[in-house]
Amino acid sequence: MSNSVGVVVTTRVVAGFIQDHRLHGELREFPENPDPTNGLIEIPAENLCDIICDAIVSASAGSPAAAGIAMPGYLHQGVMLDSPNLPQLKGARVCDSIRAGLQKRGLNLNISVFNDADAVAAGIAATRGQLDRQIRVWTIGNGIGYGRYPWTEGPWEGGHMVVSLDPREKYCGCGGLGHLEGIMGHRAMRLRFLDMEPDEVFAAARNGDRRCAEFVDLWHRALASATASQIHLEGAGRFYYTGRDIQRLELPRLKNHLYEMIKMSPLQSYTVEVLSEDPSLAAIGAGVAALIDHRC
Ligand SMILES: [Zn+2]
Repeated sequence: MSNSVGVVVTTRVVAGFIQDHRLHGELREFPENPDPTNGLIEIPAENLCDIICDAIVSASAGSPAAAGIAMPGYLHQGVMLDSPNLPQLKGARVCDSIRAGLQKRGLNLNISVFNDADAVAAGIAATRGQLDRQIRVWTIGNGIGYGRYPWTEGPWEGGHMVVSLDPREKYCGCGGLGHLEGIMGHRAMRLRFLDMEPDEVFAAARNGDRRCAEFVDLWHRALASATASQIHLEGAGRFYYTGRDIQRLELPRLKNHLYEMIKMSPLQSYTVEVLSEDPSLAAIGAGVAALIDHRC
């Protein structure tokens, strides 16, 4: 049976029914009347697990074989070891809580939890018929995620890769200096430009504002630097870029920086591709990966 439920936890919880690697029907949002200002950040871990359980139950009408839940952070054996963007989840035994919550609701289902960027990578593989290939993806939004398919043990906290030695680069939500997310993340940009929203910074850069233009170049060089480090560690191949704020990325600019950073000829056969934001990718990926790879 290839039916499953995919749930994605970011600044909101969405869930959908996944059938044959496609979203069947619509993604639905939970809770139905979310707090528009703070999203999920004020909701305690136990209540967040309850919202996830309600989402799974409501998306389970078609008798799914499994449910996959994608969440931001470093997960290991069903425990959220750390999650800078949803700090209340740090240390939470998310698998146990969700399993218990589903049993209370009369639903016995195999569940798996995945890092949200890994779920996007699985979603790209599933929707392109590439489940036999290696997929690497950067997701650009409030945080910066690095996802891989197939799933491989390890933290893979690519967003916290050090891309600057400047001690003034201190805006990452995890507190570390010089991190990619501290330059590129939406929240980090708001801390850097206290008087401007990130979209205004990018617009001002286009209109010739020098400070903003220098920052937008740093933003692109940071992403190129992180990608180049991945290529130097693991080899060339295909990289995808997507996420809520992907419209900020200028691909020719990224390619120019990569060209300057990667000079060894065996490593120059990489390709880079931008995918427009599609919230269903992570839901499909979580649902499909839950059928392939039981992680809880
Ligand atoms: Zn960090």
